[in-house]
Amino acid sequence: MWYNNILETIGNTPLVKLNKLTKDVKATVLAKIETTNPGNSIKDRMAIKMIEDAERAGLLKPGGTIIEGTSGNTGMGLAIAAVIKGYKCVFTTTDKQSKEKIDALRAFGAEVIVCPTNVEPEDPRSYYSVSSRLEREIPNAWKPNQYDNLSNSHAHYEQTGPEIWEQTDGKITHLLVGVGTGGTISGAGKYLKEKNPAVKIWGIDTYGSVFKKYKETGVFDKSEIYPYITEGIGEDFLPRNVDFDVIDHFEKVTDKDAALMTREIARQEGIFVGNSAGAAIAGLLQLKDSLKEGDLVVVIFHDHGSRYMGKMFNEDWLRERGFLKDKKLTAERILKK
Ligand code: PMP
Repeated sequence: MWYNNILETIGNTPLVKLNKLTKDVKATVLAKIETTNPGNSIKDRMAIKMIEDAERAGLLKPGGTIIEGTSGNTGMGLAIAAVIKGYKCVFTTTDKQSKEKIDALRAFGAEVIVCPTNVEPEDPRSYYSVSSRLEREIPNAWKPNQYDNLSNSHAHYEQTGPEIWEQTDGKITHLLVGVGTGGTISGAGKYLKEKNPAVKIWGIDTYGSVFKKYKETGVFDKSEIYPYITEGIGEDFLPRNVDFDVIDHFEKVTDKDAALMTREIARQEGIFVGNSAGAAIAGLLQLKDSLKEGDLVVVIFHDHGSRYMGKMFNEDWLRERGFLKDKKLTAERILKK
């Protein structure tokens, strides 16, 4: 048995029980590990769905150029699909993103333009504005716009949600997901709630992002917006893909807790995943008193740890930010004496 091309291997990712990190949590906690997708992240699912919906709608034509503002994972999915389907890719991203992610996009032949992080989305230098300008100026270009393109959440309604429902035999009680564009939580959450309205859908947000305040007050509060380190989740605007009606609660996690927990997932569970998985588990532990025996929680692990080698998995990077207090490893300390 074989697949006809790499795109056919997207999805059907494993669900793995966490044992050590969750020892103080009364519920059973299962991680849906999206690193087995060809681009090593969940975003392959929505990338191919956005492309195929655009092909059907006549928006993306043979030989066209895909232009997107992406922090890396969506770009990776788009770039892989573009290789197979014969499109060109131009991505704009921010200088906050890890170099590994940017180099990985270039590995698939994509062009990547790095833009400043700390400017307003409307600023002509922002990665949103630059990608819109390129879309206007490059002939036969198509911009998926992962934030507002509902093919994104539909991908998770059609695939991620049903996979979780089947893998848990319909016993899931809580879904816990880091929220960026909102596609994963809204699509999978909507499907699961349709199957069982009692399933709780919890979103993980960052300090510096608008989601939690907006959910709780209905107010878009600009004072919530400031720079933060955690990658892949939180936003300074409200993407169309965030369906606030599906989400029951947002939990905010600090950059430090998210970074340190990302390391603990590798050290305690042997699962090498990215920063938003760390944020999700840190958030889960903050919420543990709301969980009881018999609950079944599914946590999404969006991407692979290899993209964070220069960050959470680099001790100098952690020390520079005051995230790591111990000076040297044990063996190094002994040898220095
Ligand atoms: N984690 C990572 C690493 C991501 O790249 C993303 C996508 N921005 C998310 C979480 C959030 O997923 P979504 O965009 O579907 O809300």
